[in-house]
Amino acid sequence: MPVANGRSYLAIPGPSVTPEAVIRAMSRASPNIYTGELHEITDTIIPDLKYVAGTAGDVAIYITNGHGMWEAALTNVTKRGDTVLVLSCGRFGMGWSAAAASLGLDVQIEDFGQEAVVNPERTREILAADTEGKIKAVLVCQVDTSTSAKSDVAAIRKAIDAAGHKALFLVDCIASLGCDRFEMDNWGVDIMISASQKGLMAPAGVGLIWLNEKAKAVRLGLTEVSPYWDWTLRINPAEFYQYFDGTAPTHHLYALRAALDLIKAEGMEAIWDRHETLVNAIWAAVEAWGQGGAMKLNMKNPNERSHAVTSIFLGGEDGDRLRDWCEKMCGVTLGIGLGRTPPSAYFRIGHMGHVNAHGILGVLGVIDAGLKALNIPHGEGALAAASTVISKAR
Ligand SMILES: *Cc1c(COP(=O)(O)O)cnc(C)c1O
Repeated sequence: MPVANGRSYLAIPGPSVTPEAVIRAMSRASPNIYTGELHEITDTIIPDLKYVAGTAGDVAIYITNGHGMWEAALTNVTKRGDTVLVLSCGRFGMGWSAAAASLGLDVQIEDFGQEAVVNPERTREILAADTEGKIKAVLVCQVDTSTSAKSDVAAIRKAIDAAGHKALFLVDCIASLGCDRFEMDNWGVDIMISASQKGLMAPAGVGLIWLNEKAKAVRLGLTEVSPYWDWTLRINPAEFYQYFDGTAPTHHLYALRAALDLIKAEGMEAIWDRHETLVNAIWAAVEAWGQGGAMKLNMKNPNERSHAVTSIFLGGEDGDRLRDWCEKMCGVTLGIGLGRTPPSAYFRIGHMGHVNAHGILGVLGVIDAGLKALNIPHGEGALAAASTVISKAR
C-alpha cells in the first residue's frame, strides 16, 4: 500500500515549494487597484527585488513566465536582423536562442553541450573575432535547469571585456536567483531576467527584468518596441497601471511581498549558504548510490553544479520508473529528464527557495526506498552520507 497520504512534496525545478506565509498572503479577495495597500506594497517590492539581484539599476515586473522574459529582454535591446551570441549549456540556452530566432534575430549559437559550462576563453575568442562588432548581445543562462550546469557569470563578463567587445551581457537567472550566488552589479551584468516560481517562492505568473544604464541607453536607440514588452514605463511609471501595462497581478504582488519578507529576514548570504549545504547533502547521497550502480551526477565538477537543481543520470528507463514510484508511493514529485536523450534515463531534483534539511533528507530517503523497491542497483550509505553533511552545518 502507498505511504503517500499526508503533505505531498514538490521536488521539481520550478514551480518550487510555496511557503505557508506566501499562500496565506494570497488568500484574500481582489484589492482596490486604484489606491491604497496594493500601491504601497508595489513600492516596497521594487527596492527589495534590487536587493535580491544585487543591483542599483532598474527592475520591471511583467505578468508572464520565463519564456515571456526571454522575449521581453530581447525586444528592448535588439531589432530584427541584429546578431546575438547564445552561449548554451542545455535545453534552456537552446530555448532562448529559438525565441531570438523567432524575433528575426541572427542567432549565433555556441553549444557547450549538456555536461559542460560556458568556456570563457572560447567566449573571448568568438567576440575577439567579431571585429566589426556585429554581435549586439551575449545571452547565457547562469544555470541551465535541464543539465544543472552553472556557468561562471563573472568570468564571462571578464571574457567580454578582454575581447574589448561592446555587446550587452544578458543573463537568465530564472532557475538560479535566490539559490545560487548572483551579484548583478559586481559581476557586470547588463540585463538579468527571472520569474516568480523558483527561488522567489511565489506561484508562476510574474516575470522580472533588471537592467542597468547601458541597457537603457540601447533601448533608447530603438524606434519600435512592442508596447507590452517595452520596459520604459514599467521602470518609470507615471500611473500605477503602467508598472504592469494594465491590471496589476494583484495576488502575485501579495505573494512576492511575503516571499521577499522571508528573503530579507534570512539575508542573501545565509540563503546562498543554506542552498550550498543542502546541495552538498544531495551530492554526497548521489555519489554513494553511484558506488554500486549506474547513477551519476550530470555535472562532474562541483564548481560547475547548480545549488538550485541537480540533474542525475540513472540509465535505461530508470529515471521515469523512479519518479513514478516516488510520487505514487511516497508523495514526492521529482523533475523529468527534460531535454535529455532519452529523458527516461534521467531525473532532476529541484531544491530551490523554501527548502530545508528535513525536506531534502525526506526526498533522499524516498529516492533510497525507490531504488530498493525497483531493484535498481545502487551503493549503500547514501542517507548516512547526506546526514553527515547536514550534521556539519554551522
Ligand atoms: C524555468 C526556466 C525557464 C522558463 O521559465 P517558464 O516560466 O517555464 O517559461 C527559462 N530559463 C531557465 C533557466 C529556467 O530555469
